[in-house]
Amino acid sequence: MSELSNTYPTDALQALDASHHLHPFTDHGSLRQEGSRVIVKGDGVWLTDSDGKRIMDGMAGLWNVQIGHGRTEIADAVAAQMRELSYYNTFFKTTHPPVIALSEMIAKLAPDPYNQMFYVSSGSEANDTVLRLVRYFWDIKGKPNKKTIITRWNAYHGSTVAGTSLGGMKAMHAQGDLPIPGIHHIDQPYWFDEGGDMSPDEFGIAAARKLEEAIDRIGEDKIAAFMAEPIQGAGGVIIPPETYWPEVKRILADRDILLIADEVISGFGRLGEWFGSTVYNIEPDLIAVAKGMTSGYLPMGGVLVHDRVADVLEHTGSEFFHGYTYSGHPACAAAAIANLQIMQDEGVVEHVRDVAAPGFAKMFASLADHPLVGEARTKGLLGAIELVPNKDSRDRFANYGDVGTICRDISFQHGLVMRAVRDSMILSPPLVITPDELEWMGATVGKVLDETGAELK
Ligand code: PLP
Repeated sequence: MSELSNTYPTDALQALDASHHLHPFTDHGSLRQEGSRVIVKGDGVWLTDSDGKRIMDGMAGLWNVQIGHGRTEIADAVAAQMRELSYYNTFFKTTHPPVIALSEMIAKLAPDPYNQMFYVSSGSEANDTVLRLVRYFWDIKGKPNKKTIITRWNAYHGSTVAGTSLGGMKAMHAQGDLPIPGIHHIDQPYWFDEGGDMSPDEFGIAAARKLEEAIDRIGEDKIAAFMAEPIQGAGGVIIPPETYWPEVKRILADRDILLIADEVISGFGRLGEWFGSTVYNIEPDLIAVAKGMTSGYLPMGGVLVHDRVADVLEHTGSEFFHGYTYSGHPACAAAAIANLQIMQDEGVVEHVRDVAAPGFAKMFASLADHPLVGEARTKGLLGAIELVPNKDSRDRFANYGDVGTICRDISFQHGLVMRAVRDSMILSPPLVITPDELEWMGATVGKVLDETGAELK
């Protein structure tokens, strides 16, 4: 592939790509007209495209490249593992050293007592596993009517059939007659768009009580679990008001309903602790992880299982008929070990907590004064900027969604990848971002907002 990038000009690469490659989450008509961005190299927080332009990866790929691009230690660890044992499965009571070592490593990093991990290759597969596991759990417990999983509108839990169904993206549901039965969506804790006249704290309680109302309506005896991202990522970095998670905890405290945290984004350091569940002081029964586990160097994910669930699974006398050819893949396990080792040796999570997240928050606070910005919020290294026509109200532009796209394109021209979720501009950089790089990012976002404002006049 690098040979291709050296020998073909960008337009030839784009034409070849458009001829044979169906991209995920892409309008293929416009791809054919406009061509794709061709990225040829990564180094730290920087990418290089096929024209030699340097671009800051303000999204850490898809929220996953914790340690930055181009770390050769990971390439070396994977190559060494591939020379030793490139593949063997973990079905039918089989294992291998890398997956044994990784499981011990993750059990030590995870809060106590999450001692068991079920391996998958992606966040979507982690959530498919969650769905099957919770229903199996209640069958074992002799409560087969407990099948419904409550999730939130505008949540993102992946794009397989189960992931799309558990997620609350209506546009995704509309394709393929989803959700599947047994998933119930409640409102999200998105104060900026849905808080009305309530204060954020009042709204946090009200949003959490939607869970209580749903449980009362459907019946606790039919509900298997409540599933949520600690902070909704793809929905627009929706940081719940401080009151939200404590109220959810209160509601679930004396009810026989499992809590599942989708930490595919918040897991492995993004919020300044290894897991978002400890940031929000919740103790889920299952934690779905992926992305940051390998920093994206190879695909891997998993479901971390609390001892109280693992104990039930251990005493069934039967088999859980679930797993993937690549569950616990040795080369991916080697990539995960090398990634997590770098994170520990270099204090990457402490860097987020003490340096990067405070710098990021300061940068967002300064952007909040911009006339186009209705709110600029961060938690750890997740941030969102709400673009609005009038900063004194939370009303949206009439052409809601278009301004975000304009802003995203201008940002790319300035060499910064930002993601637009409707008119919310999202940043989620690699965790190793330095103060100087943050300063560059802040100055660039300022220019991008000015130009976006000028373009709207
Ligand atoms: N869950 C969350 C919270 C995510 O953000 C994502 C992906 O963005 C997924 C699940 C799906 O992960 P994957 O794309 O690896 O299947």
